[in-house]
Amino acid sequence: MTAISQKIIQTKDMQRNFVEVSLPLPLQQTFTYSIPSGIQDKISIGSRVLVPFGSRSLVGYAVVFHETLNEELALEPASIKKVTQLLDSEPLLTGEIIKLTQWAAGYYLSSWGEMLKASLPAGINATVEERFQITNSGIEYLKRNSSKRTQKIDLLQFLDENGETEFKELKKTFGASKVRRISKELHELEFVSIRHQTVASKVKTKKQKAVRLLNTPQEAKPPTKTQQEIIDFLAKTSEQLLISELMEILDVGISPIKTLAKRGFVEIITTEIRRDPLMGFALPKATKITLTDEQSAVLTKIKKPLQSQSYRAFLLHGITGSGKTEVYIRAIKETISHGKSALMLVPEIALTPVFSKRLRSVFGKEVAILHSSLSTGERFDEWRRIRNGKAQVVIGTRSAVFAPLQNLGLIVVDEEHDGSYRQHEMPFYNARDVAIVRASNAKAVIILGSATPALESFHNSQIGKYEYLSLPNRIENRPLAKAEIIDMREVFAAGSDDKILAPQLLKAIEETHKRGEQTIILLNRRGFSQFVLCRSCGESIRCMNCDITLTFHKSRQKLVCHYCSHSVTAPEKCPSCESEFIYFLGEGTEQIEKILEEKFPQLSISRLDRDTTKKRREMENVLSAFSEGKIDMLVGTQMIAKGHDFPNVTLVGVVSVDAGLSMPDFRSAEKTFQLLTQVAGRAGRGNRKGSVLIQSYYPEHYALQHAKEQNYKEFYKREIEFRKSMNYPPFVALASILIKHPNHNYAFENAKILRDSLDSANEKNHCIVLGPAPAPLSRLKGEHRLQILIKSRNRKHLRQTIDFAVAQAHENNCDMKIVYIEIDPINLL
Ligand code: ADP
Ligand code: ZN
Ligand code: ZN
Repeated sequence: MTAISQKIIQTKDMQRNFVEVSLPLPLQQTFTYSIPSGIQDKISIGSRVLVPFGSRSLVGYAVVFHETLNEELALEPASIKKVTQLLDSEPLLTGEIIKLTQWAAGYYLSSWGEMLKASLPAGINATVEERFQITNSGIEYLKRNSSKRTQKIDLLQFLDENGETEFKELKKTFGASKVRRISKELHELEFVSIRHQTVASKVKTKKQKAVRLLNTPQEAKPPTKTQQEIIDFLAKTSEQLLISELMEILDVGISPIKTLAKRGFVEIITTEIRRDPLMGFALPKATKITLTDEQSAVLTKIKKPLQSQSYRAFLLHGITGSGKTEVYIRAIKETISHGKSALMLVPEIALTPVFSKRLRSVFGKEVAILHSSLSTGERFDEWRRIRNGKAQVVIGTRSAVFAPLQNLGLIVVDEEHDGSYRQHEMPFYNARDVAIVRASNAKAVIILGSATPALESFHNSQIGKYEYLSLPNRIENRPLAKAEIIDMREVFAAGSDDKILAPQLLKAIEETHKRGEQTIILLNRRGFSQFVLCRSCGESIRCMNCDITLTFHKSRQKLVCHYCSHSVTAPEKCPSCESEFIYFLGEGTEQIEKILEEKFPQLSISRLDRDTTKKRREMENVLSAFSEGKIDMLVGTQMIAKGHDFPNVTLVGVVSVDAGLSMPDFRSAEKTFQLLTQVAGRAGRGNRKGSVLIQSYYPEHYALQHAKEQNYKEFYKREIEFRKSMNYPPFVALASILIKHPNHNYAFENAKILRDSLDSANEKNHCIVLGPAPAPLSRLKGEHRLQILIKSRNRKHLRQTIDFAVAQAHENNCDMKIVYIEIDPINLL
């Protein structure tokens, strides 16, 4: 491994003979290449380069230069390969992003190259094609051996018949690993030649013809009426204008424009146009708002470090509808007034149209928007506008934390508690936490805003890491919705036929509809069907070691803890109240929409969940139809709980809250509390009073009780005690190791090697190591999933233990390809 961990060397006066290249592979190290003299003065830090790697060619990122191969690198000059091609002389990556991704890769034990790749918009990443061709000696060999039927001959024959062929094509016929192996042999025998070719990204800037007014030529002949009209219009608008737009606005044809150009009145140019993600959307009017005293007080505190341009982290804790967004907008304005740029992160795609339209109406077209459901072209354009310094305000989801804004003054992380800031695949990272580091590096201000701050964040504000700001009241003292919990045990005891929807809820839906108002029904689909709950007393069965719900394994008739593997036989009676009405919860959520449709055929009902949100426009259509009142009831998962402002919604029903509460996850109470508080914020946004009905078999649960009262602080007090006594974050640093493989034994053998390595690495460090246990999702996509958890009060010890264990497991032939390590995991799934 090349040790370059902390230094990105300044390279002004140095000969650039060698370069460290970071590759998008699941490897933490960088690789050293020599730089051909022809590109030494063109390459810079952050340039993308094409390099040979094994038998392949890969696109990597230049991160450090060396003049000589010093001892530290311990490399033989002869073993060093050359950079094949320089892909950009103007580097796409800024120094700040290189540093930030390096930190993130180190902290999250991820690959730096993958982190760098993730920081660039997908369309920009060039790919490399490998092309294979049979050589003359290959043809001769084939002639001599054509009667034999070996794999080598088959491949040669294929190449002889098809000419130069891309790897992708060969893979279809022969399979990837076979092509790799055989072509390597054939290449060594010089029967096959391999050519690498970069395929430039398919996205390009979009260009169109535009006109620009020139100084009036000295020519005598005056322009015609139409021509004069064009000239006048251009003079008024001053800027250049797309020909297509001009033709449409003035209702003229192309010929007068061409004539004007010929006569020297105007010039026709080719201009880049922006594919605007908000094109065609109506923007809300910017209304003039006078801040409340509470908002002003908060803003004054934020302005101080903005003026002195120093790092400062704020936690803005404001209940739903307290006017946080207005505070963000003012803080962004202040930032821009100091000539700095601002980045605003939002959790879900569902939120971006609402927010970006609002920001757009305040800050104009310069706002850039980055989120995953943009088309590749849109994303490419927005990213380039940011890179070129044309967008001073950027709004985006998770990966926008790596947006190449220069001169950053402010980062806002809205709904900072939201789990979608966490990337759940390689490279793992939490955008909120990366944002903190980015702000600190840039000496910028960061505001984390939420109605229900993550427990970690609130804890940080208690210990002085963040400055605590609060907006405890709603704007204009609009009342909060009244929340009620429906005790499903009573519904059950009353012998009602409806076991899924309580009569109270059905009645409320009907009344709401009669008043011409709207309803949201929330299903919590985070739950799995295999946990056990008693319908008489509401108890679920928990692990004695971990205080986490046990999961039912049907095949073994056992209840198993997914943290520590502790298991008990599934009881036939409730251990608390001896009732026999044990109930396997989480089932039925799928049917709810259907049931509602049957019960209320007169209502128009729409559903919104992960499946529908894949299609962005469709989701936007449903949301706008709902806000226009064309839909009476919206049924959906957590995503409808957040952010939206539907003034006519006066009833929110939460159908399956217990499923979330009983997840085998130490954060289940926190997540449930957050969800309920958010969803309660959806009802009664307008002048009418709203109500929230929550169905539960366990109404005494503190998460439900405090959510009902909207009392964050009491919830925090209770929850933080639990975290402390059971050793969960924020009192410990947590890491999870997931081992995934189709073959259970194979996964288990490797998990055992890891566990042994962890134990020996942990001798002095006193980390708590749990597992391997089946992960909460114990089988997924045909793979068995095992989980090991590591906790420590000391983050350094945690890290040391993992680093040593990984090295040792490697030596003991653990298959590290099936091992996924997550630092600070959010969802243990
Ligand atoms: P939050 O982000 O905290 O949920 P918003 O910023 O969306 O709250 O504010 C809720 C509503 O109150 C919005 O419609 C917003 O336009 C309005 N609002 C915010 N601040 C003020 C103010 N000072 N005076 C009047 N209306 C305000
Ligand atoms: Zn019971
Ligand atoms: Zn346990």
